[in-house]
Amino acid sequence: MDEKVYEMLWDCRYCGTQKLLGKTHRHCPSCGAPQENAPRYFPPDEEKVAVQDHQFFGADLVCPHCTENQSRRSKHCGACGGPLEGAAEVARRADVLSGGATPPPAAKKSNAGKIIAAVLLLGLLGAVALALVFFLWKRDAAFEVAEQTWERSIAVERYGPVEDKAWCDELPSGAEVISRSKAKRSTQKVEDGEDCKTRKVDNGDGTYTEKQECTPRYKDEAVMDDECKIRVKRWSVVRTEKSQGPGDQAPTWPEVRLAKEGDCEGCEREGERKETYRVVLASSGSSEHSECEVDPSRFSRLGPKTRVKGQVRALGGGVVCDSLTPE
Ligand SMILES: [Zn+2]
Ligand SMILES: [Zn+2]
Repeated sequence: MDEKVYEMLWDCRYCGTQKLLGKTHRHCPSCGAPQENAPRYFPPDEEKVAVQDHQFFGADLVCPHCTENQSRRSKHCGACGGPLEGAAEVARRADVLSGGATPPPAAKKSNAGKIIAAVLLLGLLGAVALALVFFLWKRDAAFEVAEQTWERSIAVERYGPVEDKAWCDELPSGAEVISRSKAKRSTQKVEDGEDCKTRKVDNGDGTYTEKQECTPRYKDEAVMDDECKIRVKRWSVVRTEKSQGPGDQAPTWPEVRLAKEGDCEGCEREGERKETYRVVLASSGSSEHSECEVDPSRFSRLGPKTRVKGQVRALGGGVVCDSLTPE
């Protein structure tokens, strides 16, 4: 680590001479007054005075008898001769962090970036508030069931060659590779230079140490890999059979005709089954109609012409379908 030692500065409070060197000038070169407890300070960068071959014995001690600063090496005060045993250390300046190798464009961007971030945050808060109002603010309403419909469907799957994509090192068994290309598979963090700052540490003996503190900077980098276009035999949905009807007709599953049963190429089988139940509601006292998808048990309780109570959202007026109950 790159460390350099420089002189702290102090001002003589007797003759007013400024920027005296903390280590070299234990006494004011103009009037001879001691440094005493004069507060030392970090010099501006252009006035730094380096200390060559600095030997550090520890922070200075404050003589308990005459309050003059004394080197840690001394056993007795050079001013009053009193013993320095048990003497306290001089007060030190807090560390100063400065600079940093932040690239100028980023520094320039930061203000605009802050404003954009603030606007985005406000927008987000607004959206959250709107969403809360939308979901929570409801009012009671009355309806009549105008229409009921059900629909049931069965997917039909066929076994045969289909085209697909897969990572070339994870091909499904039996896959035939048609072509290869590069594609982004993941991202990884890679080092992208470092951010450095300069820390000034008051050594307490009239000097300070300047050191570089660096932390690595990272960026996301795409990890490319071979992607294969493949042809593979598998089950896939080729069509969907449906049946539907009104509420007063019991729901039935559609008839499914399979071309050929078994595991052969071109064979078919039944796939996923789905059923949906819908009611159309007429709002009491208006000509508005709205539609709800409900579960089978609610569907059976909401027969034609049933009077229903439920809730509507205050914003937008949508019916809360889970709230519907016969009166
Ligand atoms: Zn002086
Ligand atoms: Zn003393």
